[in-house]
Amino acid sequence: MTSRISIRDSLPVYSEDDCESALFAAKWPHGFRCPRCAHPYYYEVSSRGRRLFECRSCRHQTSITAGTVLEGSRTPLTKWFHAMYLMQLGISAKLLAELIQVTYKTAWLINHKLRHAIGQWDRDRPLEGAVQLLGEYYGYEYHRHLGSSNAQQTLKPQPIVVGATLDESDQFVHLKMKAVDGPEGNDTTRRGVADGEEAAERFVQRHVAGGLAAGHMKKLEPGHRGRSPLHFAWREAVKWLSWTFGGIGPKHLQAYLNEFCFRLTCRGALLAELIGCCGTRNRITYRGLVGPRSGIRPLKWGYRRPAQQQDRRAV
Ligand SMILES: [Zn+2]
Repeated sequence: MTSRISIRDSLPVYSEDDCESALFAAKWPHGFRCPRCAHPYYYEVSSRGRRLFECRSCRHQTSITAGTVLEGSRTPLTKWFHAMYLMQLGISAKLLAELIQVTYKTAWLINHKLRHAIGQWDRDRPLEGAVQLLGEYYGYEYHRHLGSSNAQQTLKPQPIVVGATLDESDQFVHLKMKAVDGPEGNDTTRRGVADGEEAAERFVQRHVAGGLAAGHMKKLEPGHRGRSPLHFAWREAVKWLSWTFGGIGPKHLQAYLNEFCFRLTCRGALLAELIGCCGTRNRITYRGLVGPRSGIRPLKWGYRRPAQQQDRRAV
């Protein structure tokens, strides 16, 4: 395995100017546009060490990071760019903190803000063409092993639908893994649901362009011995979640799956796509990330609800 020191040594050298130019190009690919009046000309002004752009028409001031996931961050852009670079390896916040010399909380926040941007990127790009589907389960084995006896009772496997389009050489054109929440709410005893018609239908409605009208679809048999690219990808995802993070709880599972799929979908272009994501409107706060109404929807499927609520549906 590559050691930490060699990863640190292999980090590209970025200057603050390089990062600003890259973000500027991602945010305004056709040149500056005032966010208020779309005027194309600006004055450059500096305020408390920050570079601002003042519209020549309406005098509105904006910055490169305004409205993006980087907004309000006091971490230097070079560290953000190293974090984006390291996202190609899929490392934990603990290792990221060590490598780019920030606190654990900052590293965690950077990783999650990047995952938030990836989630938006993924949402804007439904699957198109001949789609393959695979129903699987994420087990929460680690949590069950460590958790209290109550947690062991209540954490149930999370149904996941893996969907992908592939090119002629079986490389992913686009890969998605989505946690499925069933309309039955708490009824997690129906193990057939993720590979059943209903889960596939919900996945297609939400994540395939044209929804159910999309004609060609191939459903794969789930299981440990499956040899399709989707089976391999799913096994790799589970391995990554277990080995790198020791397993992921239901609240953030979807964000980690999005990151994994983003890596396999973008491959060589990952860094450029990620910078592109960070240049677009994607603002999210710490509260937004950890709060109950976070952009990353808490997954309720995995929990059994208390008896008195059993007749209610999951919202
Ligand atoms: Zn303006």
